[in-house]
Amino acid sequence: MIAPVLPTYARAPLSFEKGEGPWLFDTNGDKYLDFGAGIAVCALGHAHPRLVEALETQGRRLWHTSNLYAIPGQEDLARKLTDVSFADTVFFTNSGLEAMECCIKMARKFHSHNGDPKRWRIVTFEGSFHGRSLATIAAAGGEKLTAGFGEMPGGFDHVPFGDHEALKAAITDETAAIMIEPVQGEGGIRPVPPQCLRGLREMCDAHGILLVFDEIQCGMGRTGALFAHELAGCAPDIMGVAKGIGGGFPLGACMATERAASGMTAGTHGSTYGGNPLAMAVGNAVVDVMTEDGFLNHVSEMAGLMRQRLAGLQDQFPDVIEEVRGEGLMLGIRLKVPNTGFVEAARAVKLLTVPAADNVVRILPPLNITAEHVDFAITAIDAACGVMQANAAVAAK
Ligand SMILES: *Cc1c(COP(=O)(O)O)cnc(C)c1O
Repeated sequence: MIAPVLPTYARAPLSFEKGEGPWLFDTNGDKYLDFGAGIAVCALGHAHPRLVEALETQGRRLWHTSNLYAIPGQEDLARKLTDVSFADTVFFTNSGLEAMECCIKMARKFHSHNGDPKRWRIVTFEGSFHGRSLATIAAAGGEKLTAGFGEMPGGFDHVPFGDHEALKAAITDETAAIMIEPVQGEGGIRPVPPQCLRGLREMCDAHGILLVFDEIQCGMGRTGALFAHELAGCAPDIMGVAKGIGGGFPLGACMATERAASGMTAGTHGSTYGGNPLAMAVGNAVVDVMTEDGFLNHVSEMAGLMRQRLAGLQDQFPDVIEEVRGEGLMLGIRLKVPNTGFVEAARAVKLLTVPAADNVVRILPPLNITAEHVDFAITAIDAACGVMQANAAVAAK
């Protein structure tokens, strides 16, 4: 008999009832260090006092009005985001895929609005992830995402990650945009080298193509920069963010330059809930905390510490750890043992991590962790490595 909850997830047999900073408490009262942060969502940890205060205050005042009316919280948050980024304008959504849908529609509309409607195709990369709607699974194109769902929406040209020749060959006079995650998340924490991101920018400029970044996982301070592309010193025309921006409240945004957004006039796009007063109260609080002096420096500092300690474990367990990679507190441990087994072994010693493709375990802690949390995590990863090494030795006999 089918479960009342549609069984599309293979869930861990674990359930939480309380969170405090980077800690989660399960229904048995056991305490876990949450280095998955709800898949890079709880960027400020759980129950951050500033976010709780914002939610409670707004919760008593006004939740929702619809976008038929001006929403001051949207104007505040859009102003904050445009002040600190390449963007001139922002559309608020409830999720990452909705942010990416807006990016896709905007890129296509730009060219038709500017008299070149045959330019509507978007070049995307193998191993990418942009969400679970039909358009976003078609954009990523992986068999695991698309199998069984019939004919996919057209207009996406997939090229292998890192294949410059294939990329050049994919650009035609029908290309509207190139869309890429500056650091692939689900694909296994694969950063795009900075010179390649800059190369994409040049290629787009040379061909009159828009550059779209999916920073849903790598954005919002995760890499130690507010947006990952800042590390490469090049900006997109359009960008999707989500996950961390809501700190756990469902919120996303499509950010764009004035030029790229020129086709998105009244009536071209919308959302019933997107950017409602409740979401904006939390989003504003998250961005206020993230843009305070020292916040991003702290992320880089913790990232340096984590990276150094993980390198130590790699030396200690060469048969378990293949590679440590990533940017800031978006780290991937590529394993020589099964990643799902590793996630379980870490969970047994009270550390939560997240698996990804390419046999990677993702380390995505809240961004405001301290050195003590790093210590706890490293001790747990050390123990998990020990268990996995022993298991591999038994299996080899
Ligand atoms: C999570 C994610 C999405 C989809 O976000 P949802 O909120 O699940 O729709 C899109 N792109 C990237 C890079 C992501 O990590």
